Amino acid sequence: MTTDNGQRTKPLRPATVLVHQGRDRDPATGASAIPIYAASTYHHTEGRSGEYDYARSGNPSRDQVEEAIALLEGGVRGFAYASGMAAIGSALSLLKSGDHVIAPLDLYGGSWRYLNVVAPQQGIAVTFVDITDLNAVEEAILPETRGIFLETPSNPLFNITDLRGVAGIARKREILTFLDNTFMTPLLQRPLDLGIDVAIHSGTKFLGGHSDLLAGLVTTADPGLVRRLKQFQNAFGAVLSPFDSFLLARGIKTLKLRLEAGQQNALVLAERLSEHPAVVRVHYPGLASFPGRALHFSQATGAGAVLSVELKEKDQVKKLLRTVKLPIIAPSLGGVETILTHCWSMSHAAIPADEKVRLGITEKLVRLSVGIEDVEDLWDDLTAGLG
Ligand SMILES: *Cc1c(COP(=O)(O)O)cnc(C)c1O
Repeated sequence: MTTDNGQRTKPLRPATVLVHQGRDRDPATGASAIPIYAASTYHHTEGRSGEYDYARSGNPSRDQVEEAIALLEGGVRGFAYASGMAAIGSALSLLKSGDHVIAPLDLYGGSWRYLNVVAPQQGIAVTFVDITDLNAVEEAILPETRGIFLETPSNPLFNITDLRGVAGIARKREILTFLDNTFMTPLLQRPLDLGIDVAIHSGTKFLGGHSDLLAGLVTTADPGLVRRLKQFQNAFGAVLSPFDSFLLARGIKTLKLRLEAGQQNALVLAERLSEHPAVVRVHYPGLASFPGRALHFSQATGAGAVLSVELKEKDQVKKLLRTVKLPIIAPSLGGVETILTHCWSMSHAAIPADEKVRLGITEKLVRLSVGIEDVEDLWDDLTAGLG
């Protein structure tokens, strides 16, 4: 922590950390918001570098969100990047050519593309397994396995992975574990406490919360990994801009209110949709019938605000997308507004059709990131679309 707020004797609770973060006022002026420090470089008095020297290496606006994510996840230092994918790529820079990685079958489309296309070009071999099956994980381990990449709940099918179980397997063999914690946020799931080495976020989603920025965050509790992540961030330069840092810090302040409101709405919609005649199945950890419910709630404190719905017919998806008025129809999630995604053609477009079918991501599946609107308006709008 580079904070100069001093050591706190009693740890603050998450809602307080969200609002005050590591620094809650500008040290230079006392201003109630850390300004957007647009400067690219800093005066070296008498030729000597001060705390800041060049904005790629460090910037007070970015420091605010880097401290915030470390405090929220229980890391020793955080890193902010220009997008969630830049965060994932930068975290995976902890691996090198010749290493082998184990990854889940179903995961965010961009991560799937990175692990299928970019990682192999860098000489990193990837095996995709049913990561919810700990035996399958053990069996996939090779002498050169150095990383396990995780996402739980998985996107968009909400498969639940036993984080403590995977971390236990990996620790024994000095394999690094990476978790994309975007769906849960540190408010609902704290992977570092469960033994995961590196927590990753797309700040574009719930942390930013208003669908108006792109950002990525990484944190870890291991000082050795911190040094390497810091070096790569400075060397590669995919840093979060001062303006987006400001927006992200501002969004993080209201995360608890937004996420709890969205989560409450999501449960109402999930329960009602499960009973709807157009619906085959709803995937949502908050449902009493959800298969991974016990495991999910053994490692997370909430179900989140995203669910997915399998409809009976392809035509019903078309009608829904044509009819709904409130949700923005788009490949994203985590905004104050409800976002409806046709995973097949949007968020998971990067995955070839036959592969999607094999994974169970069908053309009849839609994902709903439930916003903070009045749930009755959302229900009226959705049921009009479902006919
Ligand atoms: C959106 C998303 C990403 C990628 O984040 P960007 O900010 O769009 O680069 C990664 N993982 C998950 C789970 C996401 O939802």
